[in-house]
Amino acid sequence: MSQAVYLDYAATTPVDPRVVAAMVRHLDAEGTFANPASRSHMYGWLAEEAVETARRQVAEVLNADAREIVWTSGATEANNLAIKGVIEQRGGGHIITSETEHKAVLDPCGWLERQGLASVTWLKPAVDGRIDPADVSAALREDTVLVSIMHANNETGVINDIAAIGALCREHGVLFHTDAAQSVGKLPLDVRELPVDLVSLCAHKNYGPKGIGALYVRRHPDVRVASQIHGGGHERNMRSGTLATHQIVGMGEALALAAGQRDDEQARIAGLRDRLWGALSGLPDVQLNGAAAPRLAGHLNVGFAGVDGEMLLTAMSEVAVSTGSACTSASLEPSYVLKAMGVADALAHSSVRFSVGRFTTEADIDRAAQNVTDAVTRLRAALKNRA
Ligand SMILES: *Cc1c(COP(=O)(O)O)cnc(C)c1O
Repeated sequence: MSQAVYLDYAATTPVDPRVVAAMVRHLDAEGTFANPASRSHMYGWLAEEAVETARRQVAEVLNADAREIVWTSGATEANNLAIKGVIEQRGGGHIITSETEHKAVLDPCGWLERQGLASVTWLKPAVDGRIDPADVSAALREDTVLVSIMHANNETGVINDIAAIGALCREHGVLFHTDAAQSVGKLPLDVRELPVDLVSLCAHKNYGPKGIGALYVRRHPDVRVASQIHGGGHERNMRSGTLATHQIVGMGEALALAAGQRDDEQARIAGLRDRLWGALSGLPDVQLNGAAAPRLAGHLNVGFAGVDGEMLLTAMSEVAVSTGSACTSASLEPSYVLKAMGVADALAHSSVRFSVGRFTTEADIDRAAQNVTDAVTRLRAALKNRA
């Protein structure tokens, strides 16, 4: 009982033991350790084969062609490659994105804007957290070259209608990028059906290792992105650098595992998440952020009115969660995602993101629910006594 219950799967997940087993076969002298770009010996060929098997595994999850997958160091780099790569390739232009994107989309867009390389329209979500396709349509201009709208939000789990947004982009000849770091392997994402041109992926939200990701780049019609990392022309000139065989093998294995059990696993996780909400919603004055929208199975973003989120995190010592996202939880600003959705500052400050995953049990949920309930009740009682 000493270890806290881990309910921060949206920040990162432990690596699945089956993935670890595959990865360690690609590290030492007994394993497939060679440089996949070494064409002159068997060691290199074997490493290249491992990389290409993983590329097919990742492609299969998206129903893509393996040649459409470009390895990166994670979704942050994939987003940078997609956004800066398109703008550089096109020699500038207008980007449409949203205020609720991950920093890995907001910051490259902001950087391009400040450098005078692109102009950017930042869309506000509806109160349910979703981007209205009609707002994308209204923001389209003559010079719009790229729309970047995430598939599912990392803080709330809210899922955007990327089919509708992508269809609009197609109609207007504008490229559509979506950040699917949270959703890949969890939601259906078929690039033969969906009008998406660029999709950012990562392994570590899905029981794979940190430090590996990929960008899907459509081949028909041929989408071009200018390389952002130069040095040897790996990955069909889109991303140089020696490929990290063990990381890549880990990502392929992790996504194949997730996709293979997707419906069962997501149903089980949703059941646990709903069990947690069932317990927490018994408390007075709690709000489920993004409640009105379709959401990922594992996310539960809850505002506890009158309770400071940071104090709550300290008080619930048996549960490991974040306020907002892991990337911004070091700042004392309330979540910009919740603010954009119109959640009042005070309630945004009182909000906590719980996220459930593969290794969460019913006993974990019950223990966490009890700990949270006790902490909220105690903090509210203390506030009342002070008043
Ligand atoms: C985690 C995350 C990222 C960043 O991915 P890394 O692989 O850690 O660089 C980007 N976008 C979203 C939506 C995320 O959840």
